[in-house]
Amino acid sequence: MREYTTVIGLEVHVQLNTESKAFCSDKNQFGDAPNINIGPVSLALPGTLPVLNTEQIKSSIKLAYALNSKINLVNGFDRKNYFYPDLPKGYQITQDRLPICEGGILKFHSEGQLKSVRIHHVHMEEDAGKNSHDLHPTYSMVDINRAGTPLVEIVTEPDLRSAQEVHDFIAALQQLVRYLDISDGNMEEGSLRCDVNVSVMPKGSSTYGERNEIKNVNSKKFAKTAVEYESKRQIKILEQGGAITMNTLLFNPETGTTKPMRTKEEANDYRYFPDPDLPPLQLTQEYIDDIVAQVELLPWTAKTLLIDEHHLSEYDAEIISRDKGTVQFFRNFQISKDQHHASTLSSFIINKVLPFCQENNKVLDDMQVDNISKFILLLDSEKISKSAGLNAMSELVLKSTEPMDLEKVAKDLNLIQSEDQDFLDDLIDSILSKNIDKVKAYQNGKKGLLGFFMGQVMGQAKGKANPKILTTKLSKALEEKDL
Ligand code: ADP
Ligand code: MG
Repeated sequence: MREYTTVIGLEVHVQLNTESKAFCSDKNQFGDAPNINIGPVSLALPGTLPVLNTEQIKSSIKLAYALNSKINLVNGFDRKNYFYPDLPKGYQITQDRLPICEGGILKFHSEGQLKSVRIHHVHMEEDAGKNSHDLHPTYSMVDINRAGTPLVEIVTEPDLRSAQEVHDFIAALQQLVRYLDISDGNMEEGSLRCDVNVSVMPKGSSTYGERNEIKNVNSKKFAKTAVEYESKRQIKILEQGGAITMNTLLFNPETGTTKPMRTKEEANDYRYFPDPDLPPLQLTQEYIDDIVAQVELLPWTAKTLLIDEHHLSEYDAEIISRDKGTVQFFRNFQISKDQHHASTLSSFIINKVLPFCQENNKVLDDMQVDNISKFILLLDSEKISKSAGLNAMSELVLKSTEPMDLEKVAKDLNLIQSEDQDFLDDLIDSILSKNIDKVKAYQNGKKGLLGFFMGQVMGQAKGKANPKILTTKLSKALEEKDL
């Protein structure tokens, strides 16, 4: 069998989190009872006219900025005509000739490598309503609530080369729209959906094969499975001497397979034309600059900030920056500005706070920031041993709802390392006496054994030994022990 390269381009629909719909004041809200957010415009009653929602434009501008797209100062709306019960107007308002953004790039990590995908363009449009064919035994149901939900559609160049890359690209885009706070990016609820275009070509070739388009994929995992299945299907046809014909496919999550929805011959003729109800949109550079200035953080600037300003490790910065809320949570701590405490704080967030929130269905806002802050300071102090403190007190701090007196808790738990470390002298003496051959080896040059003795004493001191004082005392005792 010949080897093949899979080529994928995506058309990603993102529902914007605006208060109202794209062209009227109906509420833009997922999950409401069917057919309640349906004023005259959503229902396309005769005589109604669309009014543009400026929030949709602002969201598109923010996205354009993040993707490094060129914004068309003049852009316009077109009608895409087709007939379907979930589309009362008989056309969808979209941008066909002149989209708001052209070009751009999104960089993302996949399997340890930095990849980049070119953006062809981003356009604004509106969602249709929703038909359900499985809610009633004999009727199909139509819910118009979704009709008119503002969308941006991001169309990539065919730059993706594997199912995993598709998965990781969607994840990066999802992270980006959440950072920009233009969408919740929730794929299960359909806030982010992809049309996945797949073709294959012999390895080394530079001519793309004929593509098939898998419609409306609503999970990263499904997108991955769909690409894997579809590229295998196409390769099999080519290997058997057949040819790929351009089809629109549906993905079945239950079987992990694709099946034809319509062929090229049955393709819709949308008869696009400029929407006479919506004059061209004219933007000024000042307006754009104003909106762009509102963008606080992007995933990649957040990561750099955590490394440069807070001196976090690459690993910690990567995890903290996955979600903008976590970055803000971390940066809101005064102690995050101190290099010494920043790393203790970030490990505490990564290893304790985030898992705690996930397991207990809590959000970062529920956490007692003051207690956490005091706890980190205590851990970083000489007063208690960090590992003993983390073991004994993390739960209490995470579960706390009231301000805590952490030093008192540490004292009650017998964790305070006494200022007076004289008790160590006897302990050291007894441990040295029990390990005479190791002391001899130490004195003969095996200085690495200091670690062994440290471990022994720390263990028996049950968290009360101050490591600094212990090191000094122990080195001295080892040198001076009479054999
Ligand atoms: P159309 O205008 O017919 O919708 P486009 O050129 O706009 O087609 O492409 C639509 C999507 O299909 C884009 O995301 C693009 O990257 C992708 N695409 C185009 N050609 C191929 C191909 N040969 N293989 C995979 N994806 C492709
Ligand atoms: Mg297209």
